[in-house]
Amino acid sequence: MNRSTHLAQLASASEPFDLLIIGGGATGLGTAVDAAARGHRVALLERDDFAKGTSSRSTKLVHGGVRYLRQGNISLVLEALRERGRLARNAPHLVRDLAFVIPSYSWWEGPFYGIGMKVYDQLAGKLGLAPSRLLSRAETIAQIPTVETDGLIGGVIYHDGQFDDSRLAINLAQTADELGATVVNHCEVTGLLKERGLVAGVQARDRLTGREFEVRARGVINATGVFVDQIRRHDEPSVAPLVAVSQGIHLVLPKRFLPGDAAIMVPKTADGRVLFAVPWHDRVVVGTTDTPLASASEEPRALAEERTFVMEHIRRYLATDPTDADVLSIFAGLRPLVKAGEGQSTAALSRDHTIVVSESGLLTVTGGKWTTYRKMAEDVVDHAETLAGLETRRSPTEALPIHGSTRDEIGPPHLRPYGSDAASVAAVIARSPEHDALLHPGLPYRRGEVVWQARHEMACTVEDVLARRTRALLLDARASIEAAPAVAALLAAELDRDAAWQAAQVETYTLLARGYLYIDPASCAG
Ligand SMILES: Cc1cc2nc3c(=O)[nH]c(=O)nc-3n(C[C@H](O)[C@H](O)[C@H](O)COP(=O)(O)OP(=O)(O)OC[C@H]3O[C@@H](n4cnc5c(N)ncnc54)[C@H](O)[C@@H]3O)c2cc1C
Repeated sequence: MNRSTHLAQLASASEPFDLLIIGGGATGLGTAVDAAARGHRVALLERDDFAKGTSSRSTKLVHGGVRYLRQGNISLVLEALRERGRLARNAPHLVRDLAFVIPSYSWWEGPFYGIGMKVYDQLAGKLGLAPSRLLSRAETIAQIPTVETDGLIGGVIYHDGQFDDSRLAINLAQTADELGATVVNHCEVTGLLKERGLVAGVQARDRLTGREFEVRARGVINATGVFVDQIRRHDEPSVAPLVAVSQGIHLVLPKRFLPGDAAIMVPKTADGRVLFAVPWHDRVVVGTTDTPLASASEEPRALAEERTFVMEHIRRYLATDPTDADVLSIFAGLRPLVKAGEGQSTAALSRDHTIVVSESGLLTVTGGKWTTYRKMAEDVVDHAETLAGLETRRSPTEALPIHGSTRDEIGPPHLRPYGSDAASVAAVIARSPEHDALLHPGLPYRRGEVVWQARHEMACTVEDVLARRTRALLLDARASIEAAPAVAALLAAELDRDAAWQAAQVETYTLLARGYLYIDPASCAG
């Protein structure tokens, strides 16, 4: 996957693309894969980096959605459980089975949640993981050795999926590329082209060079998450907003707070929210919140009350309270909530996502979740084919392996997220002792990985490497700041950049990553 080649393909296209997708998160990338797999000519432009938005800031679960189960929305749970099974089959290198324990502190919680999780098992049917069951007090402590034992009665254990969100996004971009799509990061759509009142392409700007260009397409799909209304306003300046923004935050703690393999799930906190503490890449991810915000930003920040909420609640479930100094990173993501009454003319109301078509033919898709990205993409491309007058073809993505797909354990354990690429990454690392050196003693990444990511994964900036190709920013924000100069030097050698570029990259990254430090004032917005 080479950025220069893809930019050249955009510049030299003599015919309009069949479909142009705006936004390189789960939804846009999934749509690019689906459309390219059907044989359509596809281009995708991402303003920043693949998964820069919500798609790198999730709880990292591939799940049916206990929230929907509580709401009695069985069809949504069923769809998500089916998609969970498909994703585990198509990207086994990134998805794993995880045990979740619901600790109970009142007599009724065990039987109540036990029955709920049996329903979940039944819905999953053949695609189910291990069955749920009630746990005694001793079994609960064996699963979660650090659980708060004061008042503990027992628990319920069930199974769901876990994944690495931005690694999956990169692999989807690679899959789209291999299917013939032209996918480019760091290119912002700045306007829409129209012919006889109908959308016929986009105006765009390469954010790395400032170059402006146009791309023509028979159909344009707006998959920009919480930013869909910005694009819709390019189409109709006075259009009513489709989405409201809700923020969810996570704290990352050292593994010692959850040393076993199981996660903690709290179905209903005192104020009615769902809270997870999930082991991930040798750390613990704790969240989340649901806070309405007036507007969306590219780098959302946790509010003071969200930090307090997550910290106070996780302390209730752990025997040893984490302190502020224990938090390795804090990150925020934004959910697009479709406003009531909007999108009513769509065909997708029974689903968790919404598809809206404007009078000029701009197709907007938003909502849903990572787990169901493939189904969303299939729905959108079905609509887009009709709208753009393309030949209608069946989606083959239910059983389409995603780049990196393998069940084999290739290479050393720390390279497993690369899946079938792990042997090639290992070969780059083995080329010199310098490439084999760790980027930072507190992070599990080798310098050679940066070289691989620049050559094969379209990593262009220090942030691309530390936030989304590796997960250093989330695993330990402070260590990632210390690793930034080494990453800048490695990228500069690969991308032919000078010392001034390196210094600017380190400065920009440091400013960004300080916002992920829990006890740095820059991380607190409210
Ligand atoms: C806190 C939280 C936790 C979650 N946890 C889970 C979970 O555990 N499991 C699960 O299944 N789902 C989860 N979700 C939901 C899931 O993360 C989202 O549904 C999914 O990531 C949305 O993807 P998207 O592509 O629609 O949006 P985004 O990922 O936000 O992508 C939109 C992209 O559009 C780009 N863009 C914007 N404007 C332009 C422009 N003008 N030109 C070009 N590009 C542009 C942005 O840079 C961005 O990359 C969670 C969501 C939140 C908020």
